[in-house]
Amino acid sequence: MQALTTRAKVAVNKKMSFKERMYIPAILGGLSITLRHFFKKKVTIQYPEQTREFAPVYRGHHVLKRDENGAERCTACGLCAVACPAEAITMVAAERKKGEEALYREEKYAAVYEINMLRCIFCGLCEEACPKEAIFLTDEMVLTDYARKGFVHGKDKLVEPMDKDKRIDVSKRQTKEVAEFKTHPEFAHNQVYTKSLK
Ligand code: SF4
Ligand code: SF4
Repeated sequence: MQALTTRAKVAVNKKMSFKERMYIPAILGGLSITLRHFFKKKVTIQYPEQTREFAPVYRGHHVLKRDENGAERCTACGLCAVACPAEAITMVAAERKKGEEALYREEKYAAVYEINMLRCIFCGLCEEACPKEAIFLTDEMVLTDYARKGFVHGKDKLVEPMDKDKRIDVSKRQTKEVAEFKTHPEFAHNQVYTKSLK
């Protein structure tokens, strides 16, 4: 039968020579390789004492962004869930009540928003699909857990802190076009609730 690759080797049941049956040359050969590597620079990273630098395009844990005034940007439109190839996103929409304008940017908001981190493949399509600049993937790693339910991250883990100093910087994740688009306040898409939070 014709071989599928040019690197295939035909296995033969050859009788071992006296030297091969001694195994000592093979053992010495193996030890010399070990010794050579012993004095070479280590390629492993001693995590968690050392951490590897991530690529600028690394996609990690998601963040649900707030706008400049602290209101949640997400309007529970569901586009991220539709775009998600892993069906990892679920949400329950609710209507904003009078007096909640400072909490939610739009009239409809996500009362429940969950991402199953075990399903997520960190493709970033949710980020691309979002018309409200509400969801971004960050360079934070998803922390491990002992139980499956610990990997279903709700708003408590996804929405960024209200404190302006603790907000997640996603400026490097936005394309030039998106950053430029956001400078046009005349688009209804970009209008924000301007009353500052007390
Ligand atoms: S990164 Fe990809 S797989 Fe993960 S939630 Fe977003 S769209 Fe789904
Ligand atoms: S994160 Fe964006 S795409 Fe997803 S529901 Fe909220 S506004 Fe819509």
